[in-house]
Amino acid sequence: MTTCHPAPYEHERDVALHAVARASALCRKVQAGLITEETLAKQDRSPVTVADYGSQAVILHFIKQAFPHDPVVAEEDSQALRDPANATLCATVAQHVQEILPDVAGEEILADIDRGQHGGGASGRFWTLDPIDGTKGFIRKEQYAVALALIEDGNVVLAVLGCPNLPAGRLEDDDTVGVVVHATVGGGTFLQTLGGGVARRVSVSATSDGPGAAFCESVESGHSAHDQSARMAETLGITRASVRLDSQCKYAVVARGEADIYLRLPTRADYEEKIWDHAAGALVVEEAGGTVTDITGEPLDFTQGRTLSRNKGIIATNGTLHPVVLAAITANK
Ligand code: AMP
Ligand code: MG
Repeated sequence: MTTCHPAPYEHERDVALHAVARASALCRKVQAGLITEETLAKQDRSPVTVADYGSQAVILHFIKQAFPHDPVVAEEDSQALRDPANATLCATVAQHVQEILPDVAGEEILADIDRGQHGGGASGRFWTLDPIDGTKGFIRKEQYAVALALIEDGNVVLAVLGCPNLPAGRLEDDDTVGVVVHATVGGGTFLQTLGGGVARRVSVSATSDGPGAAFCESVESGHSAHDQSARMAETLGITRASVRLDSQCKYAVVARGEADIYLRLPTRADYEEKIWDHAAGALVVEEAGGTVTDITGEPLDFTQGRTLSRNKGIIATNGTLHPVVLAAITANK
């Protein structure tokens, strides 16, 4: 008799794919109702807040159902929602969550959100979630991501990156079908449309010289130093302008070979990158054949709690270009 062994993390991946797809649907719905100019002008963060809390509530509920003992390191907590002054916001979050999980009510939603308060660390297994990465992009109706990863003994072993506004082919394509990019350690990186569809394996580019390379970086100059990246591009002989996009979608475009380099150059010496901003993205690039380190060439250290306190900045490349990119950083400090 032959026994069928499921591939490693197959069950976790399927749960995560389902959870991220449902949360992405919630985010899309909230985003579709957003009146961008008005929200931007008033600096009104409430729409993104609804989607942030809603996404976290939905995903952490699905994780609780499937893996009740797994801790989670997630960005949000329910404290502000519990403030009576925010009762309307709280009711709106509940309404969106209940469209996906009709049987989940008030206090359980708040408790699900608070399942994300784990401190992380070096041992055992935990999930990490950014319910909406790239909130500025979300408000501008541009790129954002729903980023979920599983970490075991400090290693990212599973990544599911929902990119609801990323075209399936290339950034400039005119479809916003949305994709999910996912990876398991040792199992490769795959891309499929958010509506389901067939998963296709993706890999990084083969670009081997600076002049032929395309690099991406944050839209926000407060998150990555644009002046330094421009000097680096000059050193590397890169002629193409940087592709600026919000969120971990940058890792997705490197993983599928559309960009060759992702630069995240510190703007402040004291900023510690959050693990939920990089865990999923880093694995999808590595499993697609790329390399991810900090700006000194050190591997990302996910054992230090909720932040990457031992790292500074991030460099993700197709692997081939990694040494020259690191050298260009040294030359342009
Ligand atoms: P991005 O969309 O790539 O610009 O990154 C968005 C993320 O940047 C958010 O999730 C924040 O956690 C993070 N962030 C906030 N402040 C900083 C900063 N000073 N440097 C780097 N990242 C930051
Ligand atoms: Mg984020």
